[in-house]
Amino acid sequence: MTLAEDIKRIRATLWGKVPFISSLLGRARIVETESVPTAGVDKRSWVYINMSYWEKLDLLCKTWLIAHEVAGHAAFLHPLREGSRVPNPEKQPSEHMTWNISADCAVNVMLEEFIRAPEMERFAVTAETIARLTGERVDDIKKMSVEEIYDLLQRNAVKVEIELDLIPSCLGEGETVQEGDSAFGGDKSPAEIKEAWRGFVARAYIAQKTAGTVPAGLERIVNEFIRPSLDPRALLRQGIRAGLGKLMISDWRRPSRRYPDLLPWTRQLRIPTIWALTDASGSIGGDELKLFLGTVYEFAKHADVKVISFDTRAYELVTARRPAEVIPKVARHIRGGGGTEIRNALEQTLARMKNRDIVLVLTDMCIFDLDQPGVQHLLTAVSGRSSACAFCTTGRETLVKGWRVIRLKS
Ligand SMILES: [Zn+2]
Repeated sequence: MTLAEDIKRIRATLWGKVPFISSLLGRARIVETESVPTAGVDKRSWVYINMSYWEKLDLLCKTWLIAHEVAGHAAFLHPLREGSRVPNPEKQPSEHMTWNISADCAVNVMLEEFIRAPEMERFAVTAETIARLTGERVDDIKKMSVEEIYDLLQRNAVKVEIELDLIPSCLGEGETVQEGDSAFGGDKSPAEIKEAWRGFVARAYIAQKTAGTVPAGLERIVNEFIRPSLDPRALLRQGIRAGLGKLMISDWRRPSRRYPDLLPWTRQLRIPTIWALTDASGSIGGDELKLFLGTVYEFAKHADVKVISFDTRAYELVTARRPAEVIPKVARHIRGGGGTEIRNALEQTLARMKNRDIVLVLTDMCIFDLDQPGVQHLLTAVSGRSSACAFCTTGRETLVKGWRVIRLKS
């Protein structure tokens, strides 16, 4: 049987009970190669299979292996996410090994809920393996992301060796047996690859939900994974699109009553200003403040950013028109200390913002007056006028109606 036929058979077998994996299997580009000893995934998220290894496995082991590579490493972008911990995996073999072990643990914890293949599991990294190595509780490890497992292993300076299946580059050698989605053609950027897999994971998850059973572990992993990341361009696109949407519906025939001297489209296509309400209260540490400034810096590449720092009151407004202005202008003006109240900063923003600006609150979300009716009212008003608004948080993730919550990580 060829690899392509095997994969078709596996997908058909899984479709009824585990559509999550079956659906993802169809998306990936799969390549036969001699360049890896068993199997592997590269930075483009192409999946490689060595046929002399593959042919020795029975169907259950094949199913486990292909699910591990595709629905685990490829779909959850383990080779691309490695950069957050190991900037140069080709030159850091032991860190690369640790990342691979961490990723294997996360994948295998997820797989346990779907496919049991004792013969493969015997050699696989599991939560129990990590618990033995670190003394951490198995249940806690099962809830950890790859990054968290990596940090845990680094803290404990453990040494283990496994068969590596994360390829620290773009391999590209071998014969393609399944093209997969066009999102994985050779010329796609990491951002495009990430975006594509996020979409596929979301759809695979919905398919699984429709089938009736979603293990709790998968629910958590998927939620974490498909949560929007902080991409300034995506937020800007969203902001401009929101403006265009309104233009088509309401402003198309007659000029705006509020701005009669402007043609609707000249107003609508303005690039929105970004309002960055920056928490500078006592609970914000130096690293967090650096992260906030880094975020403002990113945004200043794409739009004017107006920064209002606040603790129990709001401080003066600082504008950064270019990234180079962020540190000298903004950092110098960040004041604060003491408690956190957002009311004043919201009032100032609401008074000065234009319709369809973007509003971001950079905070740890320990905000004392968040639940007050007056503040809730201001939040609704700001959200109503903005094209996109979000809490970018380093701490807790409180849901606020009409606002997105974006986790901020360095
Ligand atoms: Zn693996």
